[in-house]
Amino acid sequence: MSHSYMVVAEVRAGALRQVTLEALHTVSLIKEEGDLTAAILIGSQITPLASELAEYVEGEVHVVDHPDLENYNAEAYFQALTPILNKINPHTVVFGHTAIGRDLAPMVAAHLDAGQISDITAIQDTGSSASFTRPIYAGKAFEQKQFIEGPRVISIRPNNIPAAGKVTSPAAIVETEYSPAADLRTVIKDVIRKTSGKVDLTEAKFVVSGGRGVKSADGFKPLEELADVLGGAVGASRGACDAGYCDYALQIGQTGKVVTPEIYIACGISGAIQHLAGMSQSRVIIAINKDPEAPIFKVADYGIVGDLFEVVPLLTKEFRNVLV
Ligand SMILES: Cc1cc2nc3c(=O)[nH]c(=O)nc-3n(C[C@H](O)[C@H](O)[C@H](O)COP(=O)(O)OP(=O)(O)OC[C@H]3O[C@@H](n4cnc5c(N)ncnc54)[C@H](O)[C@@H]3O)c2cc1C
Repeated sequence: MSHSYMVVAEVRAGALRQVTLEALHTVSLIKEEGDLTAAILIGSQITPLASELAEYVEGEVHVVDHPDLENYNAEAYFQALTPILNKINPHTVVFGHTAIGRDLAPMVAAHLDAGQISDITAIQDTGSSASFTRPIYAGKAFEQKQFIEGPRVISIRPNNIPAAGKVTSPAAIVETEYSPAADLRTVIKDVIRKTSGKVDLTEAKFVVSGGRGVKSADGFKPLEELADVLGGAVGASRGACDAGYCDYALQIGQTGKVVTPEIYIACGISGAIQHLAGMSQSRVIIAINKDPEAPIFKVADYGIVGDLFEVVPLLTKEFRNVLV
């Protein structure tokens, strides 16, 4: 018997998020011959993106396009999703382990009476025997989990699973009506953006992070320059956020964002366990710290003992020479 696999797509700043393509690749890893794939796109004025998404999906793209869905609202998005869930009756639903995925996945799991495995970083085997690796104890250990039976809801950590490529026959686009319910318990009145959002921190391939060692808001400027040259994003430790050097939107760690870039450059960050929880899975970690005993060097692939205000501009200059 064939099963239906569903990916809940995400849009950011008018573009499909990379994690959506990673979720589609996840489906291709775990589905079996004859299984169906549907991607769901919810938002406002997103119909043009549906054709773009369709190029990565063999199956169907369901679009719910309504002005009231411009900003994410758990209740409204769940209401938009419910008729499609009921129609498709998916065996497996895949989300990005993002702010939206973390919020919506448990609601969908409850609706489907499904099991849920979150924050997946790797997949073994296919179909019903697939098992999923996820970090536990703030990244100190990994567990491998498997579903005993469906339905299944999973969320994948951005930047860990390769992105899907384009398919030979793009998906059919199916539009679904949305009528805003009069009894929504919450509505979004306004969204105040706190970061420039040039590159999404959780999906960035390069992250340059500052800690209390940057000493001031101005101290972040050399880090921003390095991130710009690399085409990456700036992050921070909670120490830097608490000191008021930057916004909490940049915080990486146990109580902040989790990032897994190709290169993470920690500048003036001591390497507290709560910070490591948010970045220790990065492919390559470079630490710059003037204290040779700083714990960050224990997880770093490359360590530079020195003053970040001397080292970071030198790195920027060298990368600029090579890349720009
Ligand atoms: C419940 C809980 C949750 C937490 N969640 C998080 C979290 O999500 N994320 C997080 O980051 N922290 C979190 N913390 C805080 C964490 O424990 C640390 O206090 C914090 O990470 C320290 O930040 P820091 O490394 O920037 O500062 P510090 O520990 O003060 O380190 C500053 C570093 O900068 C170096 N330095 C100073 N000047 C220079 C210079 N000129 N050049 C080079 N190096 C220099 C110093 O040698 C030092 O190693 C949490 C704590 C608790 C209790």
